[in-house]
Amino acid sequence: MDRVTVLHRDRSEGHAGSGPEASVVPGQQAMKIRVLGCSGGIGGALRTTALLVDDDILIDAGTGVGDLSLESLARIDHIFVTHSHLDHVTSIPFLVDTVCWMRASPLVVYGIKEVLDILKAHLFNWKIWPDFTQIPDADKPFMQYREIKVGETIEIRGRKFTAIPANHTVPAVGYSVQGSRNALIFTGDTCINDGLWKVVNSTRNLKYLIIETAFSNKERDIAIASKHLCPQMLAEELEKMRAEPEVFITHLKPGEGALTMKEVTQAAGRWRPRMLENNQEFSL
Ligand SMILES: [Zn+2]
Ligand SMILES: [Zn+2]
Repeated sequence: MDRVTVLHRDRSEGHAGSGPEASVVPGQQAMKIRVLGCSGGIGGALRTTALLVDDDILIDAGTGVGDLSLESLARIDHIFVTHSHLDHVTSIPFLVDTVCWMRASPLVVYGIKEVLDILKAHLFNWKIWPDFTQIPDADKPFMQYREIKVGETIEIRGRKFTAIPANHTVPAVGYSVQGSRNALIFTGDTCINDGLWKVVNSTRNLKYLIIETAFSNKERDIAIASKHLCPQMLAEELEKMRAEPEVFITHLKPGEGALTMKEVTQAAGRWRPRMLENNQEFSL
Protein backbone atom coordinates (compact mmCIF):
# COMPACT_ATOMS: atom_id res chain seq x y z
CA MET A 1 0.00 0.00 0.00
CA ASP A 2 1.12 3.54 -0.66
CA ARG A 3 2.84 5.28 2.17
CA VAL A 4 0.48 7.74 3.73
CA THR A 5 1.81 10.68 5.64
CA VAL A 6 -0.32 12.32 8.25
CA LEU A 7 0.36 15.99 8.81
CA HIS A 8 -1.15 17.91 11.64
CA ARG A 9 -2.23 21.47 11.17
CA ASP A 10 -3.16 23.41 14.23
CA ARG A 11 -6.33 25.29 13.38
CA SER A 12 -5.90 27.55 16.40
CA GLU A 13 -3.10 29.18 14.42
CA GLY A 14 -5.40 29.68 11.47
CA HIS A 15 -4.51 33.25 10.59
CA ALA A 16 -4.71 34.37 6.98
CA GLY A 17 -2.23 32.61 4.75
CA SER A 18 -1.79 29.62 7.01
CA GLY A 19 -3.84 27.32 4.79
CA PRO A 20 -2.51 24.25 3.05
CA GLU A 21 0.82 25.12 1.47
CA ALA A 22 1.08 25.15 -2.29
CA SER A 23 4.34 23.42 -3.02
CA VAL A 24 4.92 23.43 -6.77
CA VAL A 25 7.16 20.52 -7.61
CA PRO A 26 8.74 20.99 -11.05
CA GLY A 27 7.73 18.22 -13.41
CA GLN A 28 5.15 16.82 -11.03
CA GLN A 29 1.95 15.83 -12.76
CA ALA A 30 -1.16 17.78 -11.93
CA MET A 31 -3.75 15.85 -10.01
CA LYS A 32 -7.07 15.31 -11.73
CA ILE A 33 -10.46 15.37 -10.06
CA ARG A 34 -13.40 13.96 -12.02
CA VAL A 35 -17.03 14.28 -11.00
CA LEU A 36 -18.73 10.89 -10.86
CA GLY A 37 -21.90 12.21 -9.24
CA CYS A 38 -23.15 15.59 -8.06
CA SER A 39 -26.93 15.36 -7.72
CA GLY A 40 -29.10 15.32 -4.65
CA GLY A 41 -30.82 12.21 -6.00
CA ILE A 42 -31.09 9.62 -8.74
CA GLY A 43 -33.08 9.15 -11.96
CA GLY A 44 -31.93 9.01 -15.59
CA ALA A 45 -28.36 10.26 -15.80
CA LEU A 46 -28.34 11.66 -12.25
CA ARG A 47 -25.87 10.23 -9.74
CA THR A 48 -25.28 11.12 -6.10
CA THR A 49 -22.08 12.62 -4.79
CA ALA A 50 -18.69 11.14 -5.67
CA LEU A 51 -15.44 12.69 -6.86
CA LEU A 52 -12.61 10.58 -8.31
CA VAL A 53 -9.09 11.90 -7.66
CA ASP A 54 -6.65 10.55 -10.27
CA ASP A 55 -7.55 6.87 -10.37
CA ASP A 56 -7.03 5.81 -6.76
CA ILE A 57 -8.92 8.14 -4.41
CA LEU A 58 -12.58 8.92 -3.91
CA ILE A 59 -14.13 11.83 -2.07
CA ASP A 60 -17.50 10.41 -1.08
CA ALA A 61 -18.90 7.31 -2.69
CA GLY A 62 -22.43 7.99 -3.89
CA THR A 63 -24.16 6.18 -6.73
CA GLY A 64 -21.81 7.66 -9.38
CA VAL A 65 -19.10 5.20 -8.34
CA GLY A 66 -21.13 2.37 -9.89
CA ASP A 67 -20.44 3.76 -13.39
CA LEU A 68 -16.73 2.89 -13.14
CA SER A 69 -15.42 -0.27 -14.79
CA LEU A 70 -14.43 -3.21 -12.63
CA GLU A 71 -10.75 -2.45 -13.31
CA SER A 72 -11.22 1.19 -12.28
CA LEU A 73 -13.07 0.15 -9.14
CA ALA A 74 -10.22 -2.15 -8.16
CA ARG A 75 -7.70 0.70 -8.42
CA ILE A 76 -9.39 2.74 -5.68
CA ASP A 77 -7.26 2.61 -2.52
CA HIS A 78 -8.66 5.49 -0.43
CA ILE A 79 -12.09 6.99 0.25
CA PHE A 80 -12.48 10.32 2.07
CA VAL A 81 -16.01 10.43 3.46
CA THR A 82 -17.70 13.76 4.28
CA HIS A 83 -20.55 12.25 6.32
CA SER A 84 -22.63 9.15 6.79
CA HIS A 85 -25.73 10.03 4.75
CA LEU A 86 -26.54 7.31 2.26
CA ASP A 87 -26.21 9.50 -0.84
CA HIS A 88 -22.50 9.89 0.06
CA VAL A 89 -21.59 6.36 1.22
CA THR A 90 -23.90 3.97 -0.61
CA SER A 91 -21.23 2.62 -2.96
CA ILE A 92 -18.66 1.76 -0.28
CA PRO A 93 -20.27 -1.58 0.67
CA PHE A 94 -20.68 -2.66 -2.97
CA LEU A 95 -17.20 -1.43 -3.88
CA VAL A 96 -15.36 -3.36 -1.18
CA ASP A 97 -17.42 -6.48 -1.77
CA THR A 98 -16.86 -6.30 -5.54
CA VAL A 99 -13.12 -5.71 -5.66
CA CYS A 100 -11.74 -7.26 -2.46
CA TRP A 101 -10.67 -10.43 -4.25
CA MET A 102 -8.76 -8.34 -6.84
CA ARG A 103 -6.74 -6.33 -4.33
CA ALA A 104 -3.60 -6.95 -2.29
CA SER A 105 -4.15 -4.11 0.20
CA PRO A 106 -7.10 -2.87 2.22
CA LEU A 107 -9.40 -0.15 0.99
CA VAL A 108 -8.90 2.71 3.45
CA VAL A 109 -11.96 4.71 4.53
CA TYR A 110 -11.19 8.11 6.08
CA GLY A 111 -13.63 10.11 8.17
CA ILE A 112 -13.98 11.98 11.42
CA LYS A 113 -14.49 9.68 14.42
CA GLU A 114 -18.23 10.36 14.65
CA VAL A 115 -18.72 9.42 10.99
CA LEU A 116 -16.67 6.23 11.27
CA ASP A 117 -18.61 5.26 14.40
CA ILE A 118 -21.88 5.60 12.47
CA LEU A 119 -20.56 3.51 9.56
CA LYS A 120 -19.47 0.82 12.02
CA ALA A 121 -22.73 0.80 13.98
CA HIS A 122 -25.25 1.24 11.20
CA LEU A 123 -23.77 0.09 7.88
CA PHE A 124 -20.92 -2.43 8.24
CA ASN A 125 -22.64 -4.04 11.23
CA TRP A 126 -23.22 -7.57 9.84
CA LYS A 127 -26.94 -6.74 9.45
CA ILE A 128 -26.98 -4.19 6.64
CA TRP A 129 -23.60 -5.39 5.31
CA PRO A 130 -20.72 -7.53 6.60
CA ASP A 131 -17.94 -5.85 8.55
CA PHE A 132 -15.14 -5.94 5.99
CA THR A 133 -12.61 -4.79 8.58
CA GLN A 134 -12.89 -8.34 9.97
CA ILE A 135 -12.85 -10.16 6.62
CA PRO A 136 -11.02 -12.36 5.84
CA ASP A 137 -9.50 -11.59 9.26
CA ALA A 138 -8.80 -8.56 11.42
CA ASP A 139 -5.03 -8.74 10.80
CA LYS A 140 -5.28 -8.52 7.03
CA PRO A 141 -8.70 -7.06 6.30
CA PHE A 142 -10.23 -5.97 3.00
CA MET A 143 -11.14 -2.60 4.49
CA GLN A 144 -9.69 -0.29 7.14
CA TYR A 145 -10.97 2.82 8.88
CA ARG A 146 -8.67 5.76 9.39
CA GLU A 147 -9.74 8.69 11.54
CA ILE A 148 -9.08 12.21 10.36
CA LYS A 149 -9.63 15.25 12.55
CA VAL A 150 -10.99 18.59 11.38
CA GLY A 151 -7.94 20.62 10.38
CA GLU A 152 -5.79 17.54 9.85
CA THR A 153 -4.11 16.91 6.51
CA ILE A 154 -3.48 13.48 5.01
CA GLU A 155 -0.93 13.36 2.22
CA ILE A 156 -0.99 10.60 -0.35
CA ARG A 157 1.86 10.81 -2.84
CA GLY A 158 1.98 14.60 -2.89
CA ARG A 159 -1.78 15.08 -2.84
CA LYS A 160 -3.05 16.68 0.34
CA PHE A 161 -6.52 16.27 1.81
CA THR A 162 -7.56 18.45 4.75
CA ALA A 163 -10.83 17.91 6.60
CA ILE A 164 -12.62 21.23 6.97
CA PRO A 165 -15.70 22.24 9.01
CA ALA A 166 -19.24 21.56 7.81
CA ASN A 167 -22.58 22.29 9.47
CA HIS A 168 -25.07 19.52 8.76
CA THR A 169 -27.71 17.46 10.60
CA VAL A 170 -25.15 14.71 11.28
CA PRO A 171 -21.41 15.05 12.03
CA ALA A 172 -19.83 16.15 8.75
CA VAL A 173 -16.80 17.74 7.13
CA GLY A 174 -15.81 19.09 3.75
CA TYR A 175 -12.39 18.63 2.19
CA SER A 176 -9.72 20.98 0.96
CA VAL A 177 -7.65 19.29 -1.72
CA GLN A 178 -4.20 20.60 -2.54
CA GLY A 179 -2.39 19.54 -5.69
CA SER A 180 1.03 20.59 -6.90
CA ARG A 181 -0.32 23.80 -8.40
CA ASN A 182 -3.78 24.65 -7.11
CA ALA A 183 -6.32 23.89 -4.43
CA LEU A 184 -9.97 22.89 -4.57
CA ILE A 185 -12.44 23.10 -1.71
CA PHE A 186 -15.46 20.80 -1.59
CA THR A 187 -17.96 21.83 1.07
CA GLY A 188 -19.82 18.53 1.36
CA ASP A 189 -23.35 18.97 2.71
CA THR A 190 -23.55 22.12 4.79
CA CYS A 191 -25.74 24.96 5.94
CA ILE A 192 -24.42 28.33 7.21
CA ASN A 193 -20.78 27.65 7.96
CA ASP A 194 -18.41 30.36 9.18
CA GLY A 195 -15.65 27.77 9.71
CA LEU A 196 -15.69 27.06 5.98
CA TRP A 197 -14.99 30.68 5.06
CA LYS A 198 -12.04 30.86 7.43
CA VAL A 199 -10.50 28.01 5.45
CA VAL A 200 -11.57 29.39 2.05
CA ASN A 201 -10.10 32.79 2.87
CA SER A 202 -6.78 31.36 4.05
CA THR A 203 -6.19 28.77 1.32
CA ARG A 204 -3.50 29.86 -1.07
CA ASN A 205 -3.93 29.12 -4.79
CA LEU A 206 -7.59 28.28 -4.28
CA LYS A 207 -8.82 27.76 -7.82
CA TYR A 208 -12.13 25.98 -7.36
CA LEU A 209 -14.92 26.02 -4.79
CA ILE A 210 -17.58 23.32 -5.05
CA ILE A 211 -20.43 24.31 -2.77
CA GLU A 212 -23.81 22.74 -2.26
CA THR A 213 -27.20 24.33 -2.87
CA ALA A 214 -29.63 21.50 -2.27
CA PHE A 215 -32.92 23.38 -2.35
CA SER A 216 -34.63 26.22 -4.19
CA ASN A 217 -35.64 29.40 -2.37
CA LYS A 218 -39.25 28.30 -1.85
CA GLU A 219 -37.90 25.42 0.23
CA ARG A 220 -35.79 27.63 2.47
CA ASP A 221 -37.48 26.20 5.59
CA ILE A 222 -36.66 22.65 4.53
CA ALA A 223 -33.10 23.72 3.72
CA ILE A 224 -32.70 25.14 7.22
CA ALA A 225 -34.31 22.09 8.89
CA SER A 226 -32.15 19.65 6.93
CA LYS A 227 -29.07 21.91 7.19
CA HIS A 228 -28.52 22.53 3.52
CA LEU A 229 -28.36 25.78 1.54
CA CYS A 230 -30.83 27.46 -0.80
CA PRO A 231 -29.76 30.17 -3.32
CA GLN A 232 -30.52 33.10 -1.02
CA MET A 233 -28.49 31.52 1.79
CA LEU A 234 -25.73 30.68 -0.68
CA ALA A 235 -25.48 34.35 -1.64
CA GLU A 236 -25.32 35.35 2.03
CA GLU A 237 -22.59 32.79 2.57
CA LEU A 238 -20.57 33.88 -0.49
CA GLU A 239 -20.57 37.44 0.92
CA LYS A 240 -18.08 36.08 3.48
CA MET A 241 -15.63 35.04 0.75
CA ARG A 242 -12.53 37.13 0.16
CA ALA A 243 -10.92 34.69 -2.28
CA GLU A 244 -11.85 34.53 -5.97
CA PRO A 245 -12.15 30.88 -6.93
CA GLU A 246 -14.34 29.55 -9.72
CA VAL A 247 -17.59 28.55 -8.01
CA PHE A 248 -19.50 25.37 -8.84
CA ILE A 249 -22.87 24.37 -7.41
CA THR A 250 -23.54 20.79 -6.39
CA HIS A 251 -26.26 18.63 -4.78
CA LEU A 252 -29.16 20.16 -6.74
CA LYS A 253 -32.47 18.45 -6.11
CA PRO A 254 -33.64 16.36 -9.09
CA GLY A 255 -36.27 18.23 -11.08
CA GLU A 256 -35.34 21.58 -9.54
CA GLY A 257 -31.89 22.07 -11.03
CA ALA A 258 -32.92 24.68 -13.60
CA LEU A 259 -35.01 26.67 -11.11
CA THR A 260 -32.35 26.53 -8.41
CA MET A 261 -29.58 27.57 -10.81
CA LYS A 262 -31.74 30.47 -12.05
CA GLU A 263 -32.19 31.61 -8.46
CA VAL A 264 -28.46 31.10 -7.79
CA THR A 265 -27.66 33.38 -10.73
CA GLN A 266 -30.16 36.00 -9.52
CA ALA A 267 -28.93 35.97 -5.92
CA ALA A 268 -25.22 35.26 -6.36
CA GLY A 269 -24.50 36.19 -9.99
CA ARG A 270 -21.49 38.31 -9.19
CA TRP A 271 -19.53 35.17 -8.27
CA ARG A 272 -20.52 33.63 -11.65
CA PRO A 273 -21.47 30.26 -10.13
CA ARG A 274 -21.91 27.38 -12.55
CA MET A 275 -23.65 24.06 -12.13
CA LEU A 276 -21.31 21.18 -11.41
CA GLU A 277 -21.74 18.45 -14.02
CA ASN A 278 -21.03 14.76 -14.22
CA ASN A 279 -17.66 13.91 -15.79
CA GLN A 280 -16.43 17.45 -15.34
CA GLU A 281 -12.68 17.45 -14.64
CA PHE A 282 -10.54 19.72 -12.53
CA SER A 283 -6.76 19.88 -12.69
CA LEU A 284 -4.84 20.90 -9.57
ZN1 LIG B 1 -26.26 14.92 4.03
ZN1 LIG C 1 -26.15 14.70 0.57
